[in-house]
Amino acid sequence: MNREKPVIAVVMPCYNEEEALPLSLPVMLGILDKMAEQGIASADSYILCSNDGSRDRTWEVLKDWHSRDQRVRGVSLAHNRGHQYALLAGLMAVRGECDAAISIDADLQDDPNAIIEMVKKYREGCDIVYGVRSSRRTDTWFKRNTAHAFYSFQKTMGLQTIYDHADYRLMDAKALDMLSEFKEQNLFLRGIVPQIGLKWDVVYYERNSRVAGESKYPLSKMLSFSIDGITSFSALPIRYIFFMGIIFLIIDLIVAIYVLISYFTGHVEPGWSSIMLSIWFVGGIVLIGLGVVGEYIGKIFIEVKARPRYQIDERI
Ligand code: UDP
Ligand code: MG
Repeated sequence: MNREKPVIAVVMPCYNEEEALPLSLPVMLGILDKMAEQGIASADSYILCSNDGSRDRTWEVLKDWHSRDQRVRGVSLAHNRGHQYALLAGLMAVRGECDAAISIDADLQDDPNAIIEMVKKYREGCDIVYGVRSSRRTDTWFKRNTAHAFYSFQKTMGLQTIYDHADYRLMDAKALDMLSEFKEQNLFLRGIVPQIGLKWDVVYYERNSRVAGESKYPLSKMLSFSIDGITSFSALPIRYIFFMGIIFLIIDLIVAIYVLISYFTGHVEPGWSSIMLSIWFVGGIVLIGLGVVGEYIGKIFIEVKARPRYQIDERI
């Protein structure tokens, strides 16, 4: 690993980004030029775009750029697999061909200047550098608050992540090798990377709005991403259900005492409403419990099949 003048690979997952790429590629190439001029990165540094089965002209745009500038490279997945898989495919494609990889979205939402700070930290000896959002001014009120609620919820559910860090980070060759050892299908890179450990640090950056195109992460995707994150890293929800069962048993005991007292003192009511209420209540709790258990069984089902996590169709 070269810490003096590293070869940096900027990895960008791209799904239908034909509008954003012509804006973000020059910015990224500019950053690479700047680092080469300053002598902090090799002039062989490059960008690798991981085309996640885009349905627009993303791949054609990339091929066009590649023909003009060899530093723009790409892998194209056989079909749309989602951001995490596209990112992993990109990181594994540059593994062994760079000293450090930096993952960033293709829409310039994450300030690309932080790349320079990350490389500086790498040169000082860090293996992993996390990009952390210093503010979310440009996110909508809704996105900002739901995101923060997810972070807190994940924390209480026992998932260790770096607060306000998305997938903007530097990982050096050693960290990439270790990442390749994680064979799980349910990918939640923000949870996996902190488990790698090594010497790490953070850099802060401003989160901007998208340069072009629209978000590929609607609320439904965010929600399922958050649940995946929790259930692939922690078994705490199952334990909570167990505790809930204990509490219900205690309540049941109190109710039984009350019923016995009522019986012996002759105050037995035709308790239709209470029975109806408890049937619904208990039914609800049982269903939640089944749902949580099912969630984990579903995960096991997917893991045991051990299917390939992505298929690369073409490479430039
Ligand atoms: N992306 C992807 N596959 C998908 C959805 C998104 O590769 O199925 C990429 C997208 O091109 C972008 C990054 O993931 O580079 C983040 O997506 P987006 O900006 O739409 O998410 P947001 O910033 O709105 O959360
Ligand atoms: Mg974005």
